[in-house]
Amino acid sequence: MNPTPPRIAEFTAPANWRVVDFISDLHLQESEPQTVRVWEHYMAHTRADAVFILGDLFEVWIGDDVLSTPPTTARAAPSSFEDRCARSLHAASLRRELFFMHGNRDFLLGPAGARACGLSLLADPTTLNFAGQRWLLTHGDALCLLDTDYLQFRAQVRSAGWQQNFLAKPLDERRTIAQGLRAQSEARKRSGATYADVDSPEAIRWLQAAGAHELIHGHTHQPADHDLGQDRRRRVLSDWDGAATPARAQVLRLSLAHPGDRAQVQRLAQADAV
Ligand code: MN
Repeated sequence: MNPTPPRIAEFTAPANWRVVDFISDLHLQESEPQTVRVWEHYMAHTRADAVFILGDLFEVWIGDDVLSTPPTTARAAPSSFEDRCARSLHAASLRRELFFMHGNRDFLLGPAGARACGLSLLADPTTLNFAGQRWLLTHGDALCLLDTDYLQFRAQVRSAGWQQNFLAKPLDERRTIAQGLRAQSEARKRSGATYADVDSPEAIRWLQAAGAHELIHGHTHQPADHDLGQDRRRRVLSDWDGAATPARAQVLRLSLAHPGDRAQVQRLAQADAV
């Protein structure tokens, strides 16, 4: 078990924000163009003042050098899938603020990549002060305490030494390693393995440490609002699948009708969020 909650960063929303969106687990990849299209439409048109992307935006990110050119450079066509996504993000960032927290798939998105995408990087976890309330944000993987093998792997790959070593390898070699990990994970999924859920006592400890009553996270792909007792809630974001019927592309939105109001919480299909 993990009795010590992690260090919790803090971010205070500017006073003029009225609408804040949360999404996660897009798992963007070239082989799923419908999800990419639905997401690009949402990013270009959401009414939100800020979008918080709580991890696993990309199915895989093997280093910022997958971006071949700065996305602001005028070119006939983006030269890679990541370049295309970076352009969409950067364009969206000119209209509203974009925040990004690492997931277990895209934890190697670094400061250079974030800058190219117009993203502000957030530590995991971070407390957001908005509308007079404290909202604790996390990807969610570190709260799945029964996933002991994964938590060991996580500690390893989040260490500076492992990352320096991995990023020093040629791109092709990194791609091969990432494909191997992905194949392992797909095989595990096919075998019908069950996945650990967020540990409720640990979630409550984090909320207490943050002085917050609302936890917002992704990772588990099990969208729901859980009552943790004592007026505490755990709100789980949906993953996205643009090829599903109807498309699965949900946004969690906090909005204020008037300054000083308490935030209203809604779950919207992306088509209703724009
Ligand atoms: Mn995840």
